[in-house]
Amino acid sequence: MKRPFLKLPEKIILVGLNYKDHAKEMEMEIPAEPIIFLKPVSALIRNGDKIIYPEGIKRLDYEAELAVVIKRQAKDVSVEAAKNYILGYTCLNDITARDLQKKDGQWTRAKSFDSFCPVGPHIETELDPRGIKIQSYLNGRLKQDSNTSNFIFSVDFLISFISKIMTLKPADIISTGTPAGIGPMQKGDKTKIVIEGIGALENQIV
Ligand code: MG
Repeated sequence: MKRPFLKLPEKIILVGLNYKDHAKEMEMEIPAEPIIFLKPVSALIRNGDKIIYPEGIKRLDYEAELAVVIKRQAKDVSVEAAKNYILGYTCLNDITARDLQKKDGQWTRAKSFDSFCPVGPHIETELDPRGIKIQSYLNGRLKQDSNTSNFIFSVDFLISFISKIMTLKPADIISTGTPAGIGPMQKGDKTKIVIEGIGALENQIV
């Protein structure tokens, strides 16, 4: 079932490296534990909204991600019980100022500009996130083409892991990392994230 976004999240938690193909592309080792970081709620935009290219940024990247929307408060949840806390799934574009990410050594500035967190087009409540196709397009050209079967950590594992660190609240968003094929964007470019069983999230850079 497609549901609209009715409530703002309290927090947006993202996973840094969660696809085997992306780890290989970046020549990084498979992590033993998830690397997580946060984006501010002020970065959120919806399907069709504009992504603002900040002044002075040398490289701005798209990252197609499957995001989970939390249904009810979750603290110290087991992997087995994690699915009971999921409202549904949506597409998320983890917009990243790649030059700042490298320069700063940590990711807050690079990932947190206003408009750097497009989500949508809706919340799909009936989806099995295992083995689904995830793609991104830039100006209609296919850039990322992977499958959640390449996940290093499952959705249920991530919910359990994060709930042991911070209490998850209804509407909170967990984004599950991006596959291989990331790349830069220019002003005027149009991005599209497509996830099987959910739909398409489209935004333009201005
Ligand atoms: Mg990402």
